[in-house]
Amino acid sequence: MKVSEDERIRTIATTMYNIFDCLAEVMMKIVSGIMQYAPIGVAVLICEVFAKNGAKVAGALLTVTIACFLGYAIHIIAVYGGLLAIFRIKIGTFFKEARTPFITAFVTRSSNGTLPTTFAAAENLGIDKEVYAFSLPLGATINMDGTAIYQGVCAFFLVMSTQGRGLTMGEMGMIVLLATLASIGTAGVPGAGAIMLAMVMSGIGFPIAEKTDLAGAYAMILGIDALLDMGRTALNVTGDLTCTACIAKKLGFVKADSVLK
Ligand code: ASP
Repeated sequence: MKVSEDERIRTIATTMYNIFDCLAEVMMKIVSGIMQYAPIGVAVLICEVFAKNGAKVAGALLTVTIACFLGYAIHIIAVYGGLLAIFRIKIGTFFKEARTPFITAFVTRSSNGTLPTTFAAAENLGIDKEVYAFSLPLGATINMDGTAIYQGVCAFFLVMSTQGRGLTMGEMGMIVLLATLASIGTAGVPGAGAIMLAMVMSGIGFPIAEKTDLAGAYAMILGIDALLDMGRTALNVTGDLTCTACIAKKLGFVKADSVLK
């Protein structure tokens, strides 16, 4: 029997799809297995920072952590809450579904790794697949509000703690601009934002050179990065789902029985 060209290509495509789907599944299992040990890793990293720098750094790092999480909280309440209210989406209904991707992102620290749960949440919200299958992977790649907040806060901290002075308005503007751009370029994987932070510092004229105070302060931030990453990734993922829900509702790409209606 002669197999048509279309049929042949479809078979090859399906096989390739199944292979990559299988590999993705295996990766997810490996990552979630490793992530169970994340809290121990975070504790050890923080111990190392304290062992090297003494207890005096605790205050500074605590301030950075509180500033980041305060920024994340304000952003969720004011921006996401505001958007949901504008688009008349019930906040309780939305967060009932958004809770699982939020927690998954918090634990895995990866927007990309969280995609399967974000997809499931979008499906449960009754959003059409043609919208979320495009917007969620796009969001997991370029929409990083939490990362922008983190990079802004950390850049402020690094300049102020090593230069012993406040920031000029020009420097503040540059930090906001570069943190926003760097967040767009940050990959949705654990710790990527911390690497991009080094680029933000170079961009504002404070490159992190070896054996300088700045390098020491940056290393301190790296010590608590896992904790900061948990919060920013949860925010990044919630932002992707919020935008998807708002756009889908506005353009009518929701199922007849959707809870968003
Ligand atoms: N871990 C973050 C994410 O996956 C990226 C970052 O490190 O800021 O969204």
